[in-house]
Amino acid sequence: MIRWRDRVLEELTSLFLRSSCPLCGRSAEQAFCSSCQRQLQRCQLPNPCQNWRGDLPVFAWGNYGGTLKRAIAALKYENHPKLAQPLGHELGKAWLDVSQFTSTQKMIVTPIPIHPKKIQQRGFNQAELLGRSFCQFTGLPFQPLGLERTHQTEAQFGLGMTAREENLKHAFSLGKGFRRCHPVSPVLLLDDIYTTGATARSAAQALRQRGIAVLGIVAITRTMRNN
Ligand SMILES: [Zn+2]
Repeated sequence: MIRWRDRVLEELTSLFLRSSCPLCGRSAEQAFCSSCQRQLQRCQLPNPCQNWRGDLPVFAWGNYGGTLKRAIAALKYENHPKLAQPLGHELGKAWLDVSQFTSTQKMIVTPIPIHPKKIQQRGFNQAELLGRSFCQFTGLPFQPLGLERTHQTEAQFGLGMTAREENLKHAFSLGKGFRRCHPVSPVLLLDDIYTTGATARSAAQALRQRGIAVLGIVAITRTMRNN
């Protein structure tokens, strides 16, 4: 009798613990349902280090499109901050798979900040949540306040390259975290989407001007195929 009751209780609990997939509404035991999880894996880039070169190397987990694009939109615009955890873990897993990073130098991870006004609207900075999850998986040190967004920039969408750079000039300054404790290791920037790189370059410049080395940027996705 007791066993039977325990089992009913267990099943009822698991029923309540199951939530619906934020991407398709089907029942999901984890962040995504198994079908969306499979589709998400198909977005993974075969070589995340394809653009790990130049002045600001880029490491990206997936191609911007399909389920990954949908997942990032759900995270940012449909109030699903919990999705940052599985996405950050995927990024961390890909990072650790590349031996050149695990065996070499020390680094400290800092997210690209969004303007305080945007945080007020959204309630969170997706890059910070992704960074936290990435560092939880990789064991790398995390400084969420390495940078500050000083200017509310206009929407970048539809702007040309020069206009983007101009729009972002002086958009960042050194954050409280790095003002208090100047990092001795190079910084690894982290963002959700890497598009033209104008944002990342502006953030890197703000750090480099203060004598802080920047190793590169990691992003869940990049929209550019080459370059
Ligand atoms: Zn789903």
